[in-house]
Amino acid sequence: MSILLLTSVSTEEETMWLNQLRSALPEEDVTLLAELNDRADVDIAIVANPPQEVLRTLPKLKMIQSLWAGVDALLGDPTLPENVPLVRLIDPTLSASMAEATATHVLALHRDLPRYAKQQQRQEWQQHELLRSSDRTIGILGLGEMGVASAQQLRALGFNVRGWSRSLKSIEGIKCFAGQERLKEFLQGLDILVNLLPLTPETMGILSKDLFFQLPKGTGLINFGRGGHQIEGDVVAALDDGQLSHAVLDVFSQEPLPADNPLWRHPKITLLPHVAAPTNQKTAVEIVARNIKNYRRTGLLPKQVERSVGY
Ligand code: NAP
Repeated sequence: MSILLLTSVSTEEETMWLNQLRSALPEEDVTLLAELNDRADVDIAIVANPPQEVLRTLPKLKMIQSLWAGVDALLGDPTLPENVPLVRLIDPTLSASMAEATATHVLALHRDLPRYAKQQQRQEWQQHELLRSSDRTIGILGLGEMGVASAQQLRALGFNVRGWSRSLKSIEGIKCFAGQERLKEFLQGLDILVNLLPLTPETMGILSKDLFFQLPKGTGLINFGRGGHQIEGDVVAALDDGQLSHAVLDVFSQEPLPADNPLWRHPKITLLPHVAAPTNQKTAVEIVARNIKNYRRTGLLPKQVERSVGY
């Protein structure tokens, strides 16, 4: 059987993936669609933003392995075959990278860097009170691979950390909340809110004015989840009236963000081009190769995406 690499990344990037996958799986026939003789030969597809319509034309497909952690775009494809198990990328390197990004931007807000940057532009020498990290409470929406690593990193830096998930967790040093009914309690008393949820029908638009008004006035916001989580107009309105003090946004409903989008120029927004935790090709290939070797040996698939809940 063959393994099909199906992406919409640049030809150069696709070639790099192909070469690395071929060297990690020397006993397999890893191929591109253009080189495939018979679609019935494919039992595994490795995908990164695959073009629509192709996956459903592979009659013997047994597993779809994503090269990304988030699978919202894939699940949004109406042509995705219904009964083929979908496996997302779970990579400790990615979680560590996200924890680093979260720590970087929480520390930047904690140490007032946006405010000092503005003062520098005005050549203004003014010191503000320095709080201890233990005086701050950080809330993390989503306690999955990304959320737990980030929560633990923030805890190690001395912050009070809370997390919110669908099912209740027990994580040492982290105050855990679960479910819609405990969201309000989770939000009360936060200094900084970090979003690390997957984009699902339930979490779409969660970063809205309704949520912002449950936060203490002047809370900082960091969105490293997906653009579909934030209602852009509500973020801007909350920044303008001081309900939010500053927002670090890495993800947008349209990416790349168009040059004429006013978010680029908002004085209270730190804007990043979706760089919080990019897939690391080397470790991703190792993990995907391990998943496939294990499947060939045992017939067992890695943990699958639960399509009914969207992650
Ligand atoms: P994950 O392991 O699947 O964890 C998702 C977490 O969100 C879980 O704790 C889950 O609760 C919680 N959750 C889901 N729906 C919920 C709901 N309706 N209410 C409350 N909690 C809910 O996902 P992950 O690997 O941590 O990744 C999270 C997201 O990060 C990805 O989907 C992707 O969008 C984003 N991401 C962004 C970047 C970037 O560079 N910006 C990079 C990688 C990933 P349970 O634990 O109870 O299931």
